[in-house]
Amino acid sequence: MNVLVINCGSSSLKYQLIDSDTEAVLAKGLCERIGIDGRLVYQKAGLDKEITEAPMPTHKEAIQMVLDALTNEKTGAIRSLKEVDAVGHRVVHGGEKFAASTIITDEVIKAVEECNDLAPLHNPANLIGIRVCQELMPGVPQVAVFDTAFHQTMPPKAFLYGLPIKFYHDYKVRRYGFHGTSHSFVSKRAVEFLGLDKDNSKVIVCHLGNGSSISAVVNGKCIDTTMGLTPLEGTVMGTRSGNIDPAIMEYVAKKENLDIPGVMNVLNKKSGLFGLSGGVSSDMRDLEAAAADGNMNAQNALDVLIYSVTKFVGGFVAAMNGVDAIVFTAGIGENDGKVRAGVVKNLGYLGITLDEEANKQRGEEIVISTPDSKVKVAVIPTNEELAICRDTVALVKAAN
Ligand code: AMP
Repeated sequence: MNVLVINCGSSSLKYQLIDSDTEAVLAKGLCERIGIDGRLVYQKAGLDKEITEAPMPTHKEAIQMVLDALTNEKTGAIRSLKEVDAVGHRVVHGGEKFAASTIITDEVIKAVEECNDLAPLHNPANLIGIRVCQELMPGVPQVAVFDTAFHQTMPPKAFLYGLPIKFYHDYKVRRYGFHGTSHSFVSKRAVEFLGLDKDNSKVIVCHLGNGSSISAVVNGKCIDTTMGLTPLEGTVMGTRSGNIDPAIMEYVAKKENLDIPGVMNVLNKKSGLFGLSGGVSSDMRDLEAAAADGNMNAQNALDVLIYSVTKFVGGFVAAMNGVDAIVFTAGIGENDGKVRAGVVKNLGYLGITLDEEANKQRGEEIVISTPDSKVKVAVIPTNEELAICRDTVALVKAAN
């Protein structure tokens, strides 16, 4: 089957066309600046990227351009849209309604709409992508894969906040967790790759990228994660603060004369590694270069990140009463050996020993603990698009 995977943001859209039999990416790319001017990046497997600047007033024109590129006579990956067998959509928030991926129906769309309040920047954009694909590819089955679904197995003691319970009952305020597609993909792969017993395994997945989250997975089921009602909670991230004392909000609002959206803007866009480094960068490569040049703010940002990840990992070891494997993934987790080493060295009390040579590798599936280490540590590259494709195929096949 050929599956078109769509990840629709408010002004951008990423796509991949995947042959599910071979799991090869036939073509991929993105649309940027939708509603502003418009830019399509298209790359057929084995060929160079093509960049087209063209007006994209709405997501409809953007998706139409993607479909035209995919079926282009010269550089298209398929001859006609009849060769698209299904579409898999990333949907950010499924609330408590969706504990798994699902075939999209009118009821599903309504239920996703009801979660819009919980992800006002993401869910409406995801829904636009779904509606446009339904319009442009009538009859092609569409599947929604939720960022929150994998975390729905968390017990109340992990998902409830210490707030009036009315907020949970009336407003659905609870921990949901995000990056679920990645945590699910990587934790499953960890069990296979490391030869763990899937029914008797305790795995911690550190998804460390521009946005970061960590999850604790027991026997394949998530029991806790660091992101919360929104993706702002948890570890320090590229520009997001992660956990802070909530009283800081009022204190800073008064000092800086900010309203609530103003404070939220600081916490989401001007904090984290970027804020800590005094605006040097949110990117680890820039921070490491600046720290090597003696910039103390950049060095502190790196230290805070490693310390923050270590504390969550240690907390999850306690929550699971042990751990069999710790796995690193996403941009920082896959590429930054210094961060991995920093976290693992702080966990030496667990009997973990790092294989320094293996830890020098970047971006590949590899065990980075020594054979005698009591806990296995590995790098497993995430692949959210492939996970969406696999869920889509499983659901479409089951429905036929
Ligand atoms: P992601 O959100 O998963 O795409 O991760 C993006 C982040 O990964 C960037 O902001 C960098 O901080 C980090 N990153 C990417 N490549 C490298 C690298 N070679 N070394 C260190 N960090 C990297």
